[in-house]
Amino acid sequence: MRLIIFGPPGAGKGTQAGLLEQRRGLVQISTGDIIREAMKNETPVGKEAKAYVEKGELVPDTVVRKLAENAIADEGYDDYVLDGYPRTTQQAEWLTEFGEENDTPIDAVLSLEVPDAVIVERLSRRRVHAETGETYHLDHDPPPDSVDPDLIVQRDDDKPETIRNRLSVYREETQPLEDYYADRDALVTVDGQGDIEEVYTRIETALDERVAA
Ligand code: ADP
Ligand code: ADP
Repeated sequence: MRLIIFGPPGAGKGTQAGLLEQRRGLVQISTGDIIREAMKNETPVGKEAKAYVEKGELVPDTVVRKLAENAIADEGYDDYVLDGYPRTTQQAEWLTEFGEENDTPIDAVLSLEVPDAVIVERLSRRRVHAETGETYHLDHDPPPDSVDPDLIVQRDDDKPETIRNRLSVYREETQPLEDYYADRDALVTVDGQGDIEEVYTRIETALDERVAA
């Protein structure tokens, strides 16, 4: 199955994509994770992306296009969940073309719906492991005691001012993709509120219904 998980920053895309990987055997392809890894390793892509990520802006389409298409090809074109890609209409159009060229269209776009107040709460309480990139939430998904607390850090782009910018970028550039995929009959909306397992169960139900339809 080829899926996109879509939604505002902090909606729970990475969390749910991780569960789909563990439980449904889909490979999680996160352009955000790929970009952060490149930044950590100071590769040419990482150096180019840094200024954009730090300001909460989108990295140029041509750069992320290559990262996403290479990752899909590396995984063999099947059984993946794209987390955080596409994020602009241009990226979505390229992805549609890529699917047509390889005869591997996207099966469904899961849109996680979460109100703004919840997003701000989730992002401001999000923490990550400095080495593994594992994501936690201070209240809802705290790091286990076995993890060294010094390695639990806040992402620079999860500071309040950058969060505000990311939300406005999301509204302007990414949200229109809902219509793009609804027009192609691919959009599946899922309520992203409630605890992590509750949301996952809704995703499973929505996917099963779609397969049966
Ligand atoms: P979140 O899930 O919190 O929205 P991500 O980890 O997906 O954040 O992305 C972090 C940052 O990486 C984005 O704010 C953006 O700068 C960059 N990025 C990730 N994916 C894309 C993309 N598809 N297009 C452009 N920039 C991207
Ligand atoms: P995204 O990839 O969409 O930016 P994440 O999966 O990183 O979102 O989730 C954002 C934050 O909210 C993380 O700290 C994560 O642990 C937490 N989180 C994710 N899903 C839920 C949920 N259903 N309830 C409470 N917290 C959640």
